[in-house]
Amino acid sequence: MKVYQGKAVFQRIVIAKVFYYEKAQRTVKREKVSDTAGEWKRFEAAKEKSREQLVQLHQKAVREVGEAEAAIFEVHMMMLDDDDYCDSVKNIIINQELCAQYAAAVTGDNFSQMFQAMDDDYMKARAADVLDVSERIVGILSGSHGDITTMDEPVILAADELAPSETVQMDKSKLMGFVTRYGSANSHTAILARTMNIPALIDVEIKKEWDGKLAVLDGYKGEIAIDPDLEYLAAAQQRLEEEQRRQDLLRELRGKETITEDGRKIQLFANIGAVSDAGIALQNDAEGIGLFRSEFLYLEATELPDENGQFLAYKTVAENMAGKKVIIRTLDLGADKQADYFPLEAEENPALGYRAIRICLTRPDIFKTQLRAVLRSSAFGNISVMFPMIISLSELQQAKVILAEAKAELKAQSIPYRDIEVGVMIETPAAVMISRELAKEVDFFSIGTNDLTQYTLAIDRQNPKLDRFYDAHHPAVLKMIQMTIENGHAEGIWVGICGELGADTELTETFLRMGIDELSVSPSAILEVRDKVQRCSGVRD
Ligand code: PEP
Ligand code: MG
Repeated sequence: MKVYQGKAVFQRIVIAKVFYYEKAQRTVKREKVSDTAGEWKRFEAAKEKSREQLVQLHQKAVREVGEAEAAIFEVHMMMLDDDDYCDSVKNIIINQELCAQYAAAVTGDNFSQMFQAMDDDYMKARAADVLDVSERIVGILSGSHGDITTMDEPVILAADELAPSETVQMDKSKLMGFVTRYGSANSHTAILARTMNIPALIDVEIKKEWDGKLAVLDGYKGEIAIDPDLEYLAAAQQRLEEEQRRQDLLRELRGKETITEDGRKIQLFANIGAVSDAGIALQNDAEGIGLFRSEFLYLEATELPDENGQFLAYKTVAENMAGKKVIIRTLDLGADKQADYFPLEAEENPALGYRAIRICLTRPDIFKTQLRAVLRSSAFGNISVMFPMIISLSELQQAKVILAEAKAELKAQSIPYRDIEVGVMIETPAAVMISRELAKEVDFFSIGTNDLTQYTLAIDRQNPKLDRFYDAHHPAVLKMIQMTIENGHAEGIWVGICGELGADTELTETFLRMGIDELSVSPSAILEVRDKVQRCSGVRD
């Protein structure tokens, strides 16, 4: 047995054989041709065929994982028409009198190396895309296109890297999990994996000799054990069975109310980061979306998302949730969430820096575009909006002014929208201390305990070295939550929690006693929390 470490993208445990995947090694021969015009026509025909395939892949991805994540195939379609790329292929065919597949393969390799050598991370990442596009064309010209459909039993897929087109084409019924050498937690592949609910590890020392061997992929520990010994395997098997039993029991809670033994009912919502997550939220019986982290639309994009793209994303979620509440949190970029096309200056203390509402209030153009999209989507469902990282009444008022301007513009353009509920995230100690004043200005509070804990305890939430000092149940944080609920209720508004603490079942009863009205948790935690709420008693106001 050998155990390899990696970074977990999705926490689950699976036991299956490894399928080692290597991109099809096509030996493209350097063949001379006499009919160069005919060869160029063959290339153009293959390009059109590629476009048809990409259109289909794009549609499939939109259906399965949503508009934003499907956008990568639009990038591939654009690459097909890139003048430099096509000129290079033409030059090799016409001037060097070489065959079309050789010209496409060489051009793909050259462009990929060029991208790989660039300093810009975004451009580096395009190296894989240009190879993907070229391989598609070469595959068509050679009469085939390799894909990952050869798996005939459930497997853990091991690969150096997976292109988005490969991930989407995979037969998901055979895929139990995957491990890759490259990729980041924000790479397209990782995002797709999370969206598809596939346990995955990245940053793993992949080895070809794993192929066909039994493995335990443990997303909790962030490791994969190859050829596990009997003891390791038995322990994994036991945990897997416990996980399964628990899931089966919890499934019986679908369709049931989130209500305590003595009849106090709360709202149990889901946190999502992508359009397609709404489906996963519904599968887990979410009563609404309590936090749509809209910045993921921005992080997955290759340029600042425009109003229409955002509108379509929010509208899709609103429609899928069919009248259930959907709370869109406005752009929370900055600190750990960086988009390449929107470079933020390096700061001494990014968590205390230029982020979230601070960016939005200094870039009202970006903010208003988002608010218009949110408002437009409200005509198609039960949409609310909330602002992150608020520390003062004046910030909230400025945000509301821009919201009012967006409404006025839409009205003047006769574009329909509803008068949506407005909330603030209570995630700074300052917001807690002025929560009575803030409550007079909004319809609800949602407590972001991840940041509230970081700022209250002065502990960087990204720094694993501080784990031993981090007390998620610190009385200071609990008192802040209590104070926020009291102040919200004193002004007649509802108060929820959307930070990770909301899913901590050791605190469910405490929150209920404090009078919490809503908990918003990751989709996979919903039934667990409902189960806990149903076991609580003596918590009626
Ligand atoms: C929070 O801070 O608790 C929160 C929900 O927001 P995020 O984790 O996205 O910062
Ligand atoms: Mg936060």
